[in-house]
Amino acid sequence: MAKKRILSGMRPTGKLHLGNYLGALENWIALQDEYQNYHLVADYHVLTTDLSTDEIYSNTIEMVTDWLAAGLDPEKSPMFRQSKIKEHTELFLIFSMLITKARLERNPTLKEQVRDLNIENLVYGHLGYPVLQAADILLYKGEVVPVGEDQLPHIEITREIARKFNTQYSPDSPVFPEPEGKITSFARLPGLDGQRMSKSVGNTILLSDGPEIVTQKLRKAVTDPQKLRKNDLGRPEVCLVFTYHKKFNPQDIPEIEADCRSGVLGCVDCKLRCASKINEILAPILEKRKTYENDLNKVIDILHDGESKAGLVAKQTMDEVHQKMTIG
Ligand code: SF4
Repeated sequence: MAKKRILSGMRPTGKLHLGNYLGALENWIALQDEYQNYHLVADYHVLTTDLSTDEIYSNTIEMVTDWLAAGLDPEKSPMFRQSKIKEHTELFLIFSMLITKARLERNPTLKEQVRDLNIENLVYGHLGYPVLQAADILLYKGEVVPVGEDQLPHIEITREIARKFNTQYSPDSPVFPEPEGKITSFARLPGLDGQRMSKSVGNTILLSDGPEIVTQKLRKAVTDPQKLRKNDLGRPEVCLVFTYHKKFNPQDIPEIEADCRSGVLGCVDCKLRCASKINEILAPILEKRKTYENDLNKVIDILHDGESKAGLVAKQTMDEVHQKMTIG
């Protein structure tokens, strides 16, 4: 039986942090044997909130280098830039005729972004973001899309567009599947200050951070504010470092929890233990990253190769679309 197709993508924001790894990348790596994967560098999507293109290329290379270093296998899963495969924009145009403005305005994810980013004048492309995303997914006939909870409304829009196209142009033999969202199992990892992890805030640990940097960063992480001295009794349930231990050092959790509560363990030692676990996890990623950093042409070749493979699939889909629509 043919493997199901998965489309997963990220905007090229440069070097990835631990939150990106746990929230998405780790999941992609786990799925790469079970499914036929396509990994999209969503570079046009960047323009919805930032018109500057100065760093898109360098950010793409950094991000793809992290993908490879973390264990994505380009032989199993083509990696490619959205802007290099023109069929994305053509299908976006066609799909934009199949959904109303009112439907896009009801999108709860958009409403949240407008509020969180303080957007006063929403651009047309941002309103249509889920339509481009639908084109990204359906161009490869993606049946499964790994997403966070907040992206589920976009998958619903993709399903509606697929249904509308099939009903309108191909009622007897659907061209597009109605994809399912696959929720990422791990909840968001907070940043070192306890807020949402984000490079713009400077509260991240990067996958490319060396051991000393990780240790330095962890030293500054917030803990239980009531535990000021080593012997003070701590409350692990309100401590960020404990959250990190739960993820990166689960086997030591009972001991850390008991020693924190009883005042046997101080925060400095606890943070050092946490840093050492994170460094253990990052060590193989760092080593692999170095080999790619020393040969960036290899990363570029991998992208070109992925773009050739993805381009063939995209062309096939558009041939089918043109034929069904008797246009194009
Ligand atoms: S000892 Fe560890 S778990 Fe307890 S408050 Fe300090 S850093 Fe947090």
